[in-house]
Amino acid sequence: MIQIPFLDLHLINARYREELITAVTSVIDSGWYIQGQQVKAFEQEFGEYCGAKHCVGVANGLDALILVLRAWKELGKLEEGDEVIVPANTYIASILAITENGLKPVLIEPDENTYNLCPDNMARVITARTKAVLAVHLYGQLAPMPEIMALAEQHNLLVLEDSAQAHGANSKDKKAGNWGHASGFSFYPGKNLGALGDAGAITTNDDALAEALRALGNYGSHQKYRNIYQGVNSRLDEMQAAMLRVKLSHLDADTAHRRKIASLYRERITNPCVLLPQVTEQSSHVWHLFVVRTVYRDQLQRYLSEQGIQTLIHYPIPPHKQQAYPQLADRHLPLTEKIHDEALSLPISPVMSMEDVAQVCEAINRFRPAAVPETFS
Ligand SMILES: *Cc1c(COP(=O)(O)O)cnc(C)c1O
Repeated sequence: MIQIPFLDLHLINARYREELITAVTSVIDSGWYIQGQQVKAFEQEFGEYCGAKHCVGVANGLDALILVLRAWKELGKLEEGDEVIVPANTYIASILAITENGLKPVLIEPDENTYNLCPDNMARVITARTKAVLAVHLYGQLAPMPEIMALAEQHNLLVLEDSAQAHGANSKDKKAGNWGHASGFSFYPGKNLGALGDAGAITTNDDALAEALRALGNYGSHQKYRNIYQGVNSRLDEMQAAMLRVKLSHLDADTAHRRKIASLYRERITNPCVLLPQVTEQSSHVWHLFVVRTVYRDQLQRYLSEQGIQTLIHYPIPPHKQQAYPQLADRHLPLTEKIHDEALSLPISPVMSMEDVAQVCEAINRFRPAAVPETFS
């Protein structure tokens, strides 16, 4: 029996039930369901929230990343076969966006402490064929963007942020979505800013890119029946946009709650076999996930499950070990593989009570592993 769920999506949205119903009703009654006022208003509001000049709604987070790279190809900034540097321990979507465009992912080991892109490792793999870097803000913490931007400038690289886990993460008064040349966001229901279905967006300060993106996600067309690109259909719809406007107005309060949970976890979890996440700067982390590491990961997960505490693994198999990518299987990425063997995500959400957090801490502190880690048995 689950007593403390990993994430209670029903409860998350139930808090705003009345507001969401009002928003949805206004869309139903408007008679306008695609590319209308709600999308326009959400793009304006979310762009402003991120501090970016443009926001373009799309169908989901994967499309956001795919379309930016595609637009850079259309604008002559990327060519098939160009290399894109990306941390090896990211979610598969980051890699899919690169290979979908016929580009070559160059997987690098992350920073061991933050699990984010490591600028030293990035510098080491830059060659004449390197044209872009995909900076993933993993688990909700900003990648070291000042260092990444400086390196990118030095080598003339495009920087795409994968901000799918980092809505509102902030450093030096600059948020996720306003550091790179473009940024992809997901509003998948479980993300910090979650729709009630699939949705995504791109932010950028580049006028030409924004214009190309608007066409590419709409059959390659700005004007009905005139197609300048072989585009796709990837649009944010009015229903999701209306609900996202409601959710956006509560995002900062939700983030504040996540930060309270994270600081309690960091203060109270004292079991020496559990490694806590490291924070570079308080405001740069929005705690999409609270990921601890332990060599006794599978034992700890089972133990917590027996006490009604649900945990998840982000992620069990790294992209280079996926069946989908036999061409990446020979990469030597021991740190990435170690992280995948040891990572465990504890429950965290805007509706989790502090009593539940305390209970998880106590359970973890009581945990005593069997003598030999399972990985060595
Ligand atoms: C969720 C996620 C995506 C993809 O978003 P979808 O909306 O599910 O397509 C991309 N990158 C990262 C890091 C994610 O966590």
